[in-house]
Amino acid sequence: MKYSLISDTYEKIEATSKRLEMTDHLVDLFNKTPNELIDKVIYLTQGKLYPDYKGVELGFAEKLTLKAINIGSGRSSNEIQRIYKETGDLGKTAERILSKKTQLSLLKESLTVEKVYHTFDKIANSTGAGAIETKVRLLVSLFNNATPSEAKYIARMAVGKLRLGIADMTILDALTIAYVGEKDTKKDLERGYDITSDLGYLARTVAFEGIEGVNNIKVTVGRPIRPMLAERLSDPKEILDKLGGEGSVEYKYDGLRIQAHMDTNEVSLFSRRLENITDQFPDIVDSLKNSIKVKAIVEGECVAVNPNTGETLPFQMISQRRGRKYEIKRVVEEIPVMLFLFDLLFFNKNDCTLSPYLKRRKKLKEIVKENERIKISWQHITKKPDEIDKFMDKAISDGCEGLMIKSVDSDSIYKAGARGWAWIKYKRGYKAEMADTVDLVVVGAFYGRGKRAGQYGAFLLAAYDDEEDIFKTVCKCGTGFTDDDLKELLEKLNQYIISHKHPRVDSKLDPDVWLNPSLVLEVMGDEITLSPIHTACTSVIRAESGLAIRFPRFTGNYRTDKSAEDATSTKEILEMYRKQLKKISK
Ligand code: AMP
Repeated sequence: MKYSLISDTYEKIEATSKRLEMTDHLVDLFNKTPNELIDKVIYLTQGKLYPDYKGVELGFAEKLTLKAINIGSGRSSNEIQRIYKETGDLGKTAERILSKKTQLSLLKESLTVEKVYHTFDKIANSTGAGAIETKVRLLVSLFNNATPSEAKYIARMAVGKLRLGIADMTILDALTIAYVGEKDTKKDLERGYDITSDLGYLARTVAFEGIEGVNNIKVTVGRPIRPMLAERLSDPKEILDKLGGEGSVEYKYDGLRIQAHMDTNEVSLFSRRLENITDQFPDIVDSLKNSIKVKAIVEGECVAVNPNTGETLPFQMISQRRGRKYEIKRVVEEIPVMLFLFDLLFFNKNDCTLSPYLKRRKKLKEIVKENERIKISWQHITKKPDEIDKFMDKAISDGCEGLMIKSVDSDSIYKAGARGWAWIKYKRGYKAEMADTVDLVVVGAFYGRGKRAGQYGAFLLAAYDDEEDIFKTVCKCGTGFTDDDLKELLEKLNQYIISHKHPRVDSKLDPDVWLNPSLVLEVMGDEITLSPIHTACTSVIRAESGLAIRFPRFTGNYRTDKSAEDATSTKEILEMYRKQLKKISK
């Protein structure tokens, strides 16, 4: 098949902004494409060689493409640079330069789709010493035989910017028209795409086997499923009404979504955008192997945890593990993570995506053996809106972003690739930074784990309620302490150890060691939130909820100048919370 068929279609697509016309041009192209090439034509049209989850990159920098244009055309690099500056587009640069090329065009071999695809495939596969020269040589071989218009798209493909503006849904429309003809079969193709995330594979299936073939496509371990997405509401009653009166309330963990595919011996991890991220999380791979012993596809949120306290940490932490190619071993140790599983999409030979949610969840619990890194997400089924608000406080004080409330109806299937009302996210309506540091009293300590074994790993901190003359807890803090701080604190706190909770301390938590309230530490946090587990300002804002500091960290300042009674008061904490709210509602 001539590559010019493709480049001519692209020219026409570029000349229109109407989706229907784009679709028609694609249909035309697909009709001219032999079945055995349709997957390659689709990938090339998407500007790639394989579906995204295969992670194959051409790896061409602009500079190298310019060099290939230079060698392929014989024009000076100054001239090429000048045109590139003028057009800002490598494709147009290649087109203009090659249109000036004086050559015996009759002797040129015309480019075929096969040749273009295989050459790019070789480019993608050349690695190691001499790879750059090989890549450039291969690209030059394409330019040598390309017409100016073909060169435009080849150059753009090399740098990964095809700029055609074709959405996946437009390709699906065109495939439906070209191979099935009936519009109402589009949903079958959509489902095929949603459970394979591979338009090339889908196109090949429909080309060779028609709509029956598409309907026979099965969820397969190793091929990512396009994730189900959530809608958002900000009122618990409205949420439950939307869900028919009852919902499964779950923590909305603040991390990275991971879809794990467990084969007999192999685990693959895919991100929300379906990139293969297996190599970035070897710790999760090992833990999953220990936890799940059947062939399965599970989904969960991966969150960073403080290795010493086991507390979950904000998204910024796990994002440092993301996209890493080097020093993986070091970051695995520095930023340990946990995976909270919330769904099961496949196990043994069963596609679970069409089962109702509670059935999937029940099976998930059966096949997962929880361990240090793999847990099942927190869940509670409720019909009561005010219960949702209580869970929200609990979620926030446990370091989560909010709640996910899911349909428990009999039709609550896993809607791959769709945003819908079967999942509703409920985040707090406000978010603000804490404007200032606070000075808090150490009233208890927790033994450290991991690197902090033999020391304290975290401390229970309290504000002072001057009306009741009592210290009320606002956070558990294990962050911001250097090794020296921890050593020093072990000694410093020795003198304050008592065998039971101090009578002037009000706490719902039970630390390993109780302390006489004396030492004051300066602490910074992200924000002040409602919390069912801390006692400062209990029931002032909401019944049975106190106020807590979210993501607290020690600033390094020991406020030895302050006595425990000089610590930040609970009134001040309340004031800070109210100011925060005002700031948001402004
Ligand atoms: P958002 O990214 O704000 O649209 O929220 C949806 C995301 O929340 C999902 O893609 C997951 O990454 C994440 N998430 C955290 N906890 C859960 C949970 N229990 N169930 C579903 N998604 C969750």
